[in-house]
Amino acid sequence: MNTKDSIKYKVKKQLFNLNRDRSFSTQTPQAFRFNDLYHLSIKQKAKIQDEATLFIENNLKVKFIKGENSNSKITYKEDINTNKTFVGIGFDIHRLIKGKKLYLGGLNVPFHSGLKGHSDGDVIIHSIIDALLGAMRKKDIGTLFPDNKKKFRNIRSPKMLKPVIEMMSKNEFYINNVDINLICEQPKVSKYRDKIIKSLSKLLNIDISLINLKGKTVEKLGLIGKEKAIACEVICSISR
Ligand code: ZN
Repeated sequence: MNTKDSIKYKVKKQLFNLNRDRSFSTQTPQAFRFNDLYHLSIKQKAKIQDEATLFIENNLKVKFIKGENSNSKITYKEDINTNKTFVGIGFDIHRLIKGKKLYLGGLNVPFHSGLKGHSDGDVIIHSIIDALLGAMRKKDIGTLFPDNKKKFRNIRSPKMLKPVIEMMSKNEFYINNVDINLICEQPKVSKYRDKIIKSLSKLLNIDISLINLKGKTVEKLGLIGKEKAIACEVICSISR
C-alpha cells in the first residue's frame, strides 16, 4: 500500500525525501513458506520489524498485494483502543398522575399531570441514562439507583444523570450524538423542543447540535393515546 504520509529517511544527520509513489507501508498478515521463514529467522541475529524485512534483507523476492488503509496494523497498545465508537439504547415509560409536576429532559413542562415514579419520572433523562450506560456496557439505571432505596425517593433525574456523566469522563468517553423519540399524545413536542434540547445540552455538557428530539403520537391508542402515560426511547453514540 502506498503511504498516506510523506516519508523522510535519515542517514546520520542528513535527511532524504522518499518518493511517496514508490514507498510502501507493509501491513499484516504477511504470508511466507514456513521452512524459508523458519530458517531465515533462526539465522537472523538483529531485531527485525516484520517478516518482509527479513526476506528483503536476504535479497529474496517479496510479492506485494495492494492493501487497504482501513486494515490498520496493530503494533502498539494504543492501536487497539483508539477511536472506538459504541452505541447504546434506552427505553422508559411512566404513568401520568394528577397533582405532580411534569419534567421532560430536566425541563418543567406545564401539563395537567406529572409522571409517577420513584423519582420525578423524567422519561427522557431515564432513557438517556440507560442509553449511555448501555454504550459504556455498565448495566442499567435500576442497578445504579435501586428503587427500594429510600435515599433515591423523589430524586430529581438530573441528579441521577450526574454520576453517569462523571463515569463517562472518568472512562474518557465523549458523546457523538443523542437521538430521542418522545412518545406521547400531549404535550406537543414541537412547542418545547428547543427548551428541552437546551436543558439537556446543559445537563449532558454537550452542544445542542448533538441532540435531536422527535415527537411521536400513537394515534390515540392505549394508555399513551389516552394521556395516561408517556414513553421515550433514546439511542446515543459515544467514542473513547
Ligand atoms: Zn423512569
